[in-house]
Amino acid sequence: MANLEDLPLRADLVGQKPYGAPQLSVPVSLNVNENTHRIPEAVALDIIERLSNAILNINRYPDREFWSLREALAQYLDHSLQPENIWAANGSNEVLQQIFQAFGGPGRKALSFVPTYSMYPLIAQGTGTDWIGVPRSENFELTTQLVSEAIRLHRPDIILICSPNNPTGTPVDLSVIEAAYTAMEANGNGVLVIDEAYAEFSHQLGASALGLLEGRPKLMISRTMSKAFAFAGARLGYLAADSAVVDALRLVRLPYHLSALTQAAAEGALAHSAEMLATVADIKYQRDRILEGLIALGLRVYRSDANFVLFGGLDDPEQVWQKLLDEGILIRNVGLPGTLRVTAGTEAETTAFLAALERILADN
Ligand code: PMP
Repeated sequence: MANLEDLPLRADLVGQKPYGAPQLSVPVSLNVNENTHRIPEAVALDIIERLSNAILNINRYPDREFWSLREALAQYLDHSLQPENIWAANGSNEVLQQIFQAFGGPGRKALSFVPTYSMYPLIAQGTGTDWIGVPRSENFELTTQLVSEAIRLHRPDIILICSPNNPTGTPVDLSVIEAAYTAMEANGNGVLVIDEAYAEFSHQLGASALGLLEGRPKLMISRTMSKAFAFAGARLGYLAADSAVVDALRLVRLPYHLSALTQAAAEGALAHSAEMLATVADIKYQRDRILEGLIALGLRVYRSDANFVLFGGLDDPEQVWQKLLDEGILIRNVGLPGTLRVTAGTEAETTAFLAALERILADN
């Protein structure tokens, strides 16, 4: 067996580490911001029927333009969006990669506000795009001034704003997104991507940037069915933008990238969106319970509009992480000093996490 060093790897990939959140089999898994509830059985049965029908035609390539799925996604998002405004791929990670392939690449640069989603620099790396991580202000917040100045200074080709932001949970005010777009227009260069993977968990209804799309052809809103929809295993991420953006992404997608099974499953889930999203209210409740519970334990919390909470004030986060794991509870150390991140799970999982953490901190 050869080693990685024996291979003629691209020079810029030498020494890089792949994305690698631990995948461990434990009773309480709260580390990758999934919806920890299973999908309703009635919906599962409808999806199985759709998959059965799709499998009977599996000798044929799927609809390359996944038109009926795009219709269903447009209808779900509302905001007068048409199928022409919708794109989708195997997870929003793939959508983001396609954006980098179309608008980034060698000699171009992508900018975001750190700490933020760890895949952005990895996708930049993989597509040969330069990466600029501009530090957020206090408590990981973004202001119009910080965002506009960074865009004016660096003149990026791709600007990514994650809202609510992973791993901090921080929502981004729509005025900040408007200011980012204005600064980008003034540069005469770039596209602006708002990553709304966690939008459905927002406290404020209507906080989405979807309403800003009209008249902004270089704005893209990325979404996913992996979080609120409890559909992470199906791999379906999507995007809303001007139809010209969709035409650009069609230049770089692989033919038939969305399998007939993925399309059938996603359409089935969207046909039952209300039932699929029924757990969101409780997850938001558990998220807010975690915020209050951690404050009561004397820890520092960061405001969150997502289905997870970043908390600080830990002397030795790695030790706390390990002790939780010893009790069968897996959360995430995202590498920010003194902090850990936990996903809001079911009521029982949330209770197990809060109780175990209280015991661990008391023992220290
Ligand atoms: N964006 C953000 C901010 C995320 O946290 C994630 C998943 N952790 C993704 C995109 C990608 O999710 P998926 O590929 O499952 O759609």
